[in-house]
Amino acid sequence: MSTTQTITPPADSTKAHRYNTIKRWLGVADFVIGFGLLVVLLATGWTAVLRDLAYRGGGQNYTLAVFFYVLMLMVIGKIIGLPLDYYGFRLEHRFELSNQRLRSWIWDEVKGLLIGLLLGTVVVELIYLLLRQNPQYWWLIAWAVFMGLFVLMAQLAPVILFPIFYKFEPLDNEELKRRLVLLSERAGTRVRGVYKWNLSEKSKKANAALTGLGATRRIILADTLLNSYSDDEIEAVLAHELGHHVHRHILKSIFVQAGITLLGFWLANSVLHYAVERRNMFDSMSDFANLPLLILVSTVLSLLLMPALNAYSRFNERQADRYCFQSVASVGAFISSMNKLAEQNLAERTPSRWVECLFHSHPAIAKRVAAAEGWARAH
Ligand SMILES: [Zn+2]
Repeated sequence: MSTTQTITPPADSTKAHRYNTIKRWLGVADFVIGFGLLVVLLATGWTAVLRDLAYRGGGQNYTLAVFFYVLMLMVIGKIIGLPLDYYGFRLEHRFELSNQRLRSWIWDEVKGLLIGLLLGTVVVELIYLLLRQNPQYWWLIAWAVFMGLFVLMAQLAPVILFPIFYKFEPLDNEELKRRLVLLSERAGTRVRGVYKWNLSEKSKKANAALTGLGATRRIILADTLLNSYSDDEIEAVLAHELGHHVHRHILKSIFVQAGITLLGFWLANSVLHYAVERRNMFDSMSDFANLPLLILVSTVLSLLLMPALNAYSRFNERQADRYCFQSVASVGAFISSMNKLAEQNLAERTPSRWVECLFHSHPAIAKRVAAAEGWARAH
């Protein structure tokens, strides 16, 4: 028996471990399937077959043909990925984490596909318009326009995109609102609003987030959280989200994203030049049969950068946590909210080191709790 006061976090249940392991493999499989589809399209030359089909569908009109190509690519990708998506839906039910009916899930999938098609079409049409008109600097102009769209989407998402899938309403709990105003005044900042997110019609999990930009900047709190957490615990969650706001994490992430996107477009341009000029893989730079190659470049880049981006995100999360410790009366509420969240969401409190490094955007819950305890001891 040890006499020193070491706090050992409760070990993860077999259930939590199994759920998270399956989920991770599901993510890996999903990635491999998408990656495989792109490679097969390029290696077999089927991408040229799709392009010719698209031209036929679009009556030889370039812009229409690009649209049909994107449509076919998305539908094929969806059909191939559907069994895994459905398995993911069943998995949430198997572990009693979901309230969503099959019909509602199918409807969400349809809506997701349509939104993806709309956004995908806009981006791809733009890229090939630029590739046709300015094959030398298309990637630089595309990057600038893409970032503009990205910022616009970040602004519109809370008011246009999220409400397509969930209902939101202003928080009606006056006591909590008063606490938030106090918290944010103490921070010398103002957040535009706090909204209740009706997550319970689909999920049993709890969640909270800071979303939006400028006038749409808001904290959203899932009703699953509001219903079963004490006011002190909710205040701790609010204080964490406010920490993201105070440290300007959304703005910083946009800058990081801008750098990565610029690198991605530059890389895509280099690879495309090589494929067209050295390997004669495509008729020209603007031959949209090369779209799978462009997507492949961005996929590989995202994969390579994932550990670094997750590390950056964990850094931000630790910063937001520290902000929370400073601004609430006692970190006890933060610790109990973490434990409740872990249990409710079947999260792993102590994932293995490499799992945390590769996959987790948040520090392990055991570490967050330990940081809070450390902070309490030091103050
Ligand atoms: Zn956070």
